[in-house]
Amino acid sequence: MMGIGTIFKKFLLARQIEMEKGRISIVGIRSANTSTSTLISIQEEVIKTLGDEGAKLLYNAGKVGGVELAKTMGKVMGLSGLKMAESLATGCTQMMGWGIVSVIKCDLKACTASFKVEDSPLSLKRYKKAFCHVERGQIAGAMEIIFNHKVDAIEIRCKSLGHHFCQFEIKPTEEFDSNDKLVREQLPADDIIKAKKKRPK
Ligand SMILES: [Zn+2]
Repeated sequence: MMGIGTIFKKFLLARQIEMEKGRISIVGIRSANTSTSTLISIQEEVIKTLGDEGAKLLYNAGKVGGVELAKTMGKVMGLSGLKMAESLATGCTQMMGWGIVSVIKCDLKACTASFKVEDSPLSLKRYKKAFCHVERGQIAGAMEIIFNHKVDAIEIRCKSLGHHFCQFEIKPTEEFDSNDKLVREQLPADDIIKAKKKRPK
C-alpha cells in the first residue's frame, strides 16, 4: 500500500505538485485550499435551502471532481482498475485532506465497490442524515471512470450520525432501487429512471 508520505514525495519528484503565483496544481488539476468550516457551511446552506435535492446537487458537484481526478491520474500515473482505486484512496485523496480512505471491496466485473472513510472533513458535526455528499460524489465519479460504467454511491454510515466512520456503497446506477429510503434521499431519481431504461434486456 502506498502511504501518504510516499505518494507526496513521488508527486513532488515527478513535478506533479506545483505551488506558485497563487496557483496550486496537483497532477495538473488546479486546486484551491479552503477551511473545512467553509466547505461545511456551503453544504449546510445548500441543504437548508433545498433539502435532499441540495444533497443531490452537492453530490453531482463532487462527481465532476472525481471524474476529472481519475481521468488525470490514469494519464499521469498510468494506473487503472484496482491499482487506480487503491492509489486514489490511500494516496491522492488523503494527501488532499479528505480523511483516511480505504477500499473495503472492489469488483471490476460487477462494477461494485465499498469504501470506508475515517475522519471525513465534512463529518465534523452531528446531523440527522449522512452529510458527506461532496466526498460521496468524488468517490462515485472516480469509480465511474475506473469501471467505465455509470455508477452511483450512497453513504450508508456517516460519522455525522455517530458512526465510527463513513461508508460508501457503489454500484451501477440502474441497480439502485428508487424506493429505498437512502436512495431517495441521496440520488437523483431521474438518473436512475434513465439508467434503468438503457439497461439491456
Ligand atoms: Zn460521512
